[in-house]
Amino acid sequence: MKIDAAIDLHIHSALSPCSDDDMTPNNIVNMALLNGLDSIAVTDHNSCDNVEAVIKAAGDRIIVIPGMELQTLEEVHLLCYFKDLSSLYSFRDQMEKYYDGMPNNPAIFGNQLVMNEHDEIIGEKEQLLLTSLSITFDEAVKMVRKHKGLPVPAHINKPSYSLLSQLGFIPSYLDLTLLEFSQNYHIDFDAYQNYRFITSSDAHFLGHILDRKMAISVEELTISGIFDSLAGSHI
Ligand SMILES: [Zn+2]
Ligand SMILES: [Zn+2]
Repeated sequence: MKIDAAIDLHIHSALSPCSDDDMTPNNIVNMALLNGLDSIAVTDHNSCDNVEAVIKAAGDRIIVIPGMELQTLEEVHLLCYFKDLSSLYSFRDQMEKYYDGMPNNPAIFGNQLVMNEHDEIIGEKEQLLLTSLSITFDEAVKMVRKHKGLPVPAHINKPSYSLLSQLGFIPSYLDLTLLEFSQNYHIDFDAYQNYRFITSSDAHFLGHILDRKMAISVEELTISGIFDSLAGSHI
């Protein structure tokens, strides 16, 4: 029997400089629980250093899909989801080779806080996370799949930092099956009939995390159940 799972798979923690410092692991998990969600993903820009803390803070109360949001060379945002932390970490180790070496200036861009599962600050990310990695969109998609992950172009209908705003089209040769759209901008779904869609909050503030607005049908309420439903027949 299929079960409906309410998801919000695009949330920024205090690691993203543009997000509120209140986006701590426990605050995110507790807000998601209050909102009745079954699964979340914390997808920080070009980094995933708070994902483990969110997973630990969540315990068995809510399913956390390991992920991050890349910014490719073309300034396209790509959500990357994985079935386990070790896959995410080996992917991250590859991506950090594409950092441009520009340090963050917290006074200008905001803090990039690394936290533990008790919401204690255990470090600050030095590399500015708001810049593009020196990897193309095509290469990034291939790299996600090499680590058995699911690549999902982010907020494709946003007029900046999206596949459509930057490239102007969805490359068919990449066999992407799932796209994320933003509720803040118009989208003509008829033009993308070959694709499945999810929407997310892209929350940078606690109050923006979704309630039970986006549901997917899953075989079981587990990481694998959510992931397989998202992936459909292709990965
Ligand atoms: Zn984005
Ligand atoms: Zn985002």
